[in-house]
Amino acid sequence: MAIHPIDVIRHKRDGLVLSDAEIEGFVHAMVERQGPADAPTDAQIAALLMAIFLRGLDARELAALTQAMRFSGETLDTSSLGAFAVDKHSTGGVGDNTSLLIAPMVAAAGAMPGGVRLCDPMISGRSLGHTGGTLDKLETIPGFRTQLGLDEFLAIVRECGFAMAGQTPALVPADRILYALRDHTGTVESPYLITASIMSKKLAAGLNGLVLDVKTGSGAFMAKLEDAQLLARLMVETGERAGTRTVALLTSMDQPLGRHAGNWVEVMECVKIFQHFAPECEFSLEAEKVRLSADLIELACALAGWMIYLGGRAATPEAGAKVAMGTLRDGSAYERFLRMVRMQSEDVAGAMAALAEPEAFHRPGATRVVRAERAGYLVEMDCTQVGWAVQRLGAGRARPGDAVSANAGIEMHVKLGDAVEVGQAVVTLFSEDEGLLAEPEEMVRETLRIAEEKPEPEPLIREVIAGGRG
Ligand code: URA
Repeated sequence: MAIHPIDVIRHKRDGLVLSDAEIEGFVHAMVERQGPADAPTDAQIAALLMAIFLRGLDARELAALTQAMRFSGETLDTSSLGAFAVDKHSTGGVGDNTSLLIAPMVAAAGAMPGGVRLCDPMISGRSLGHTGGTLDKLETIPGFRTQLGLDEFLAIVRECGFAMAGQTPALVPADRILYALRDHTGTVESPYLITASIMSKKLAAGLNGLVLDVKTGSGAFMAKLEDAQLLARLMVETGERAGTRTVALLTSMDQPLGRHAGNWVEVMECVKIFQHFAPECEFSLEAEKVRLSADLIELACALAGWMIYLGGRAATPEAGAKVAMGTLRDGSAYERFLRMVRMQSEDVAGAMAALAEPEAFHRPGATRVVRAERAGYLVEMDCTQVGWAVQRLGAGRARPGDAVSANAGIEMHVKLGDAVEVGQAVVTLFSEDEGLLAEPEEMVRETLRIAEEKPEPEPLIREVIAGGRG
């Protein structure tokens, strides 16, 4: 029987449960735009989005929507790789550069002798709202290419154990249509629509395992723990229903992760961590800088540990985290990272020179230091506001398609719970241009709260939500 968009909208509007055929028919016609008789118009798509926003979806409907979107375009076939394909996805954070550490760690762990091979075909995104994007960070490496065809992408995964690239236009076209309309109709924040959007793209990448980093706290899209828990449960259930082993870690986003937030500064932070641990680099970061990056290293190892465990290379996620740390300490993760950059950069000499001396390559036109106005402990900040400050320094875009600044960003000299003296440097701001510093400086200064009482430390990992087989 023909599916008419108006019937699908009316059913969802009235609180009925949609059939698989209705969902598949609507998505298929939307992507194919088969003609006036059965293709939904933008107004009808927007109406269905709002009906879903208000009524929600049950588990079967959500699975059907996700699968219809997943198969709306080309998909990645990872079966030829002869490896367990596992990836990590974050719901978005400030200073969240775990991907740059995790993908090479998992690739290095997966290449160790014995056991199932692991690989990470990582398809990443750009900055969104106040949060940073892995592609924008990677593109600050000289000559780095993030737009790869699927064949080249798979060839790099085969050689390096991972590759890092953007979505191709043909992968999940349904999400492109829905996302653009959600952005204009106040329907972005639906946990059902977020789940279908994220999971359709991850499942289209042919993953056997997926570890989700669902952020909660003042810098997260889902600031409240209950909202983050619901989103995590929906994504885990949807992944498991589709046959991908899926687990979600609910993690704190109450302050920027690690020491830096921005574009090149985040690449630099990860490279310094690689070089600090890799024996052949004979380089040591100051102990204070390692301390400021400790939450980033802890989270990267925990997420990689789960990926290594899901792939069967460790008996527990904790043992997996130790394997991940081992790949930093023996230099194999750094070797994998450099191998991937050599294959993805069209200026290999420039890329290697920048990575060898990352601080020399950071050339902000202007810097400013925000200092403590009183003595005490750093107890709180609105991390979303800090994220917006980073974007306005030039690290993000005011309009889609704008260029981002490689040099813009921040360095945190103090983490939540640290003691500070009056006048002590708390945050340094970097920008291309002196004129871009005033507003972010005010935003950061205004949101840092220093008080007399030392706050209780919050755990970085709040909860783990695993599927039935986790
Ligand atoms: N990231 C996505 O890819 N989709 C969403 O809906 C939200 C975040």
